[in-house]
Amino acid sequence: MEQGGHNKTGRMIDREAVEQSSRLKKKMNAGAQASEVSGKGLGRMVEAFMKLPGIGKKSAERLAFAVLEMPMDEASGIAQAILDLKQHSRHCQICNNITEDETCSICRDEHRDASRICVVEEPSNILILEKTGIFRGRYHVIMGALAPLDGIGPENLKIDTLLDRLKSGGITEVILATNPTTKGEMTALYLSKLIKPLGIGVSRIAYGLPVGGDIEYADASTIQRALEGRRAM
Ligand code: ZN
Repeated sequence: MEQGGHNKTGRMIDREAVEQSSRLKKKMNAGAQASEVSGKGLGRMVEAFMKLPGIGKKSAERLAFAVLEMPMDEASGIAQAILDLKQHSRHCQICNNITEDETCSICRDEHRDASRICVVEEPSNILILEKTGIFRGRYHVIMGALAPLDGIGPENLKIDTLLDRLKSGGITEVILATNPTTKGEMTALYLSKLIKPLGIGVSRIAYGLPVGGDIEYADASTIQRALEGRRAM
């Protein structure tokens, strides 16, 4: 595909937008094609699966046929699970984690260290961090990252509620675990500037090389970060 070409009016074509529209067209074609060959129901199912991240045409078709082959109770179990998830899940009133109650199980857990808060971008990040079992403090999900070019400023994130929590006292350390991306870095820097004056310790998660990886294949900026984040042995 031509990258960043010009259209008839000479304006730069937004490559991202072009790619997105061609992806959408492909999705529509995939559904329409499945409808034509195997019926509307299957076409709709293919289109539905293609709305999920990481699911392309082939996977969607495979999943749709798998649903078709399932016993009725299994298929309706999947449909019901989707409805239950959408109807009963909400954000924790304290940390924005996903829960079915007012507050999440982590915020309610008396055995967890309430003096440390780990800040993440998305609720799904908590699940990944919890799998390590290393962090025993609490979390705060800010629901995204700063992106001035996309019009996302601090007021669009759950930063005010984080500051309220910090100001209410009892918190001695904040660990910034936003993504190691430009947006995530910008957000971490912004938050550290807000939090330090409160007399609370601020740390950033370390960067490094992937476990089991080879230095030879790492990009320069990853190696640079890994060197900066080195520790004594
Ligand atoms: Zn919570």
